[in-house]
Amino acid sequence: MLWTKAPSGEISRSLLPRPRRLLLLLNPFGGKGNALQWCQNHILPMITEADIGFNLIQTERQNHARELVQNINLAEWDGIVSISGDGLLYEVVNGLMERPDWEEAIKMPLGILPCGSGNAVAAAINFRAGFEQTFGQELLTNCTLLLCHGAVTPLDLVSVTTASGSRSFSFLSVAWGFISDVDIESEKFRHIGPARFTLGTMVRLASLNTYRGRLSYLPALEGTAHRPILRSITMAANGSLPFQHGPLHRTVSDLGLCKERHALCFQEVEPTDEPTPSPSSPPSSSSFHSSSFSFENLSEELVADRREAGLPMTAPAVSLSPQQVHGPPDEFLAPLDQPVPKSWVTVEEDFVSVLAIYQSHLGADLFMAPFACFNDGLIHLFYIKAGISRAALIRLFLATEKGTHFDMECPHFIHIPVRAFRIEPLTHKGILTIDGERVEYGPIQGQIHHSVANLITGVNQVKITAF
Ligand code: ADP
Ligand code: MG
Repeated sequence: MLWTKAPSGEISRSLLPRPRRLLLLLNPFGGKGNALQWCQNHILPMITEADIGFNLIQTERQNHARELVQNINLAEWDGIVSISGDGLLYEVVNGLMERPDWEEAIKMPLGILPCGSGNAVAAAINFRAGFEQTFGQELLTNCTLLLCHGAVTPLDLVSVTTASGSRSFSFLSVAWGFISDVDIESEKFRHIGPARFTLGTMVRLASLNTYRGRLSYLPALEGTAHRPILRSITMAANGSLPFQHGPLHRTVSDLGLCKERHALCFQEVEPTDEPTPSPSSPPSSSSFHSSSFSFENLSEELVADRREAGLPMTAPAVSLSPQQVHGPPDEFLAPLDQPVPKSWVTVEEDFVSVLAIYQSHLGADLFMAPFACFNDGLIHLFYIKAGISRAALIRLFLATEKGTHFDMECPHFIHIPVRAFRIEPLTHKGILTIDGERVEYGPIQGQIHHSVANLITGVNQVKITAF
């Protein structure tokens, strides 16, 4: 990888764009706990084949990824990729939003490779790319191909405030009632993977709860309640699939190849006008690797590579400032202890479930809002009213697998596109989740922030705006 002056007329390598560099964050406990194995067998070979540089870090505990991204030098990376379920991406998004430079930081392209049990965003990416609905390793392969392709789509975030005043940023959903109950209560079935949600649904159906509360919202558009306003709008810019499966060798599992590439990455020096270092020189600080991470949890092979490359094995202590509230102002929201603005609509009901979702999928097989786009500027508010029969509820949930639940015209099932919402539980006990993560129970509200983040979707998508 050393540089010599290119003979005149030849393309000098220094004129070519440098290979992309991705920070891969892997939660070894996501899903059934096989993320590392899937990464080694599926992800790394494809990324290597696509000539993308990477640094893989396994998280050691909850919020590790959140802390890491608060402190990294963003200039070193072309993207941050979560290898887990949606929960790890939630950490990354919020870690970036907690930085003083959040406005720039949140523009970092974010990728997700599905190795968790809740893989909603990966399923949405797969769907928007025009692929068939799929699960497991096939979904992972599709998403890795799209990641290698690299195109980025703006992503809406929703700022969510809870009763204690804590504010976080959500890319998927806020849920209360049936859906959040299933999500959290099915944790104990984690060992069976995504099927835990089906099992959890059956358990919950057997003892169906209803929850009294007030639901307030700011409608997005006049007269749009109860019907979808945006149907599948875009695929690839040219209307076709971005590419066919095949050109990348899906079956490459030669870790030696990855190792070789990894070693190259360690030693590769950014082309500069300065004299080229001799092969025996230590790697420069501008070489591929960021040296500020802990590798304690990496495989022995990778650690050996790092040792060979003369890079430190331990991270400096992460200095976490108290979590600060950053991010754009919530212009649609009144403080939670004050009434909602007059332009809002309020319903008081016994609910089976309330769901605010901003992606097409709530899970790989929950095609909840087929018309939702990454950057449509909309929160899709759904609620199910008490009085629905168990049979109708089962039919509704079965239909969400194919996204045909809207055709059922169930009077207990309501959909409203909104820009902001507030949930005020009047039933004392219950579960609230943001992006599948449990949060304090009590009043909660959120509003959309249009296109503030960037998601690696692999497909150039026409910008959608509802504003
Ligand atoms: P899944 O879809 O399987 O639930 P997630 O990505 O949602 O996978 O992760 C589940 C939870 O694990 C999230 O709350 C995440 O913050 C947390 N987490 C991330 N890394 C670790 C770790 N190393 N050990 C334990 N929990 C972790
Ligand atoms: Mg959306």
